[in-house]
Amino acid sequence: MPPALQNVDMLHSDSHFEAHIKDTYKIDDVKSVNNNVLDRNESVSDMYDDFNLAKYEAMDFKAQIRWPDLIVQIALHTVSLLGFLLIMTNQVKLWTIIFVFLTIYTTGFGITAGVHRLWSHRAYKANLPLRILLAILFTVTGQRDIYTWALDHRVHHKYTETAADPHDVRRGFWFAHVGWLVLTPHPAVENRREALSRTSLDLIADPVVRIQKLFFIPLFLLLNILIPITIPMYFWGESFVNSFVVSFVTRFTIMLNIAYSVNSFAHLWGNKPYDRFIKSAENKLVSLAALGEGWHNYHHVFPWDYRTSELGKINISTTFIDFFAKLGWAYDLKAATNAMIKNRAAKSGDGSYHPSEEPYPN
Ligand SMILES: [Zn+2]
Ligand SMILES: [Zn+2]
Repeated sequence: MPPALQNVDMLHSDSHFEAHIKDTYKIDDVKSVNNNVLDRNESVSDMYDDFNLAKYEAMDFKAQIRWPDLIVQIALHTVSLLGFLLIMTNQVKLWTIIFVFLTIYTTGFGITAGVHRLWSHRAYKANLPLRILLAILFTVTGQRDIYTWALDHRVHHKYTETAADPHDVRRGFWFAHVGWLVLTPHPAVENRREALSRTSLDLIADPVVRIQKLFFIPLFLLLNILIPITIPMYFWGESFVNSFVVSFVTRFTIMLNIAYSVNSFAHLWGNKPYDRFIKSAENKLVSLAALGEGWHNYHHVFPWDYRTSELGKINISTTFIDFFAKLGWAYDLKAATNAMIKNRAAKSGDGSYHPSEEPYPN
C-alpha cells in the first residue's frame, strides 16, 4: 500500500473538518473522496491516469534559482562557519556546545520518529501527547511545517528517481542535498504534490498537523530562534553573539545538513542488500548522524516499517519509538517479518545481505 494511503481510516468526517478540507483543497464532496481513496488504495496512479511521467521526463526543463531561498542558505552556512571558528578558538562556553549537541540529538526525533515515520509513513500510531511532543521537537529543528514535509516525502517515495521526485538524485549530489530547496521545482513535482495532497487528507485530519501548519511562523520564531538563543544567555551567561551564532544558526544548519544527507549520501553510497535496482543504499555514517535514518535501501523497500532498518542496526529512533510503545503512547507498530526481508533480499538484493541474529519481536 502506498504510504500516502496508509491509515486513511484515521480521517474524521466532522463538519468542521469537511468544511476545512473543502475550503483548502477545493473538493466538493469530502466523503466521496475519502471513499474513493479507501476503495482504490492499491492503485493511486489509477486515480490520476492523466499523469504521464514519460511526457514529463522528456520535457525540456530548466530550473530557475529561487534567490531568497539561496540567499538564506548562503547566509546560514556562512554564519555557521563563523560558529565553528568561535568554537575552535575557545570563545564559546562548554555548556553552550553541550546544549547545542544535546538539542540536535533530542529534537532530531521530531524528524525521524515524528514527521518521517509517523506522519509521512504512518508506520505506527501515536497518542495526542506523543504527537504534540513530536510536533514541538520537529518545530525546534525548523524544517518547514509537518504537512509540507510529509507531503514532499510521500511524493519522494512514490516517484523516487523520476522527474516527479522533489530531490531526484539522478540530478546529482548537490541537487539532492540542497539544490532542490533553492531551485524552482520540476513541473512533474508540482503536479504530484497537488495530486498527493488529495490522497493525504489524513495529515490535515490531525489537529496537531493543522495547528503546527497554521502557526508555523510564530512557532518557528519561538522554538527555533528565541528559546535556543535565550537558554545559554540566561542559564550560564553566554554572550548574545555566541548564542545567536552557535545555538541558533550553527545548530540549525548542522540539523539541516544531517537531514539533507539522507537525500544525498544515503541515495548514492552504500550496500543494497534488499534491492540493487534502486539508488538508495545502506549508509552507516548517515545512520549515526541521523538517529538511524541512513538504512535507506531497507527503508525504500519497506517504507511502512517503523524501524526503517533491520534489527541489530544502529537505530536510536527505533529505540525511542519502542520506549513510547512500552508507555502505551505509541501503538500499532508495523514491521516486516524476517521471512519477508529474507525473501526480498534473495530476489533483488546485491548479495550483501546477512540475516539478522535477533529474533522477530512478537
Ligand atoms: Zn529516500
Ligand atoms: Zn521515508
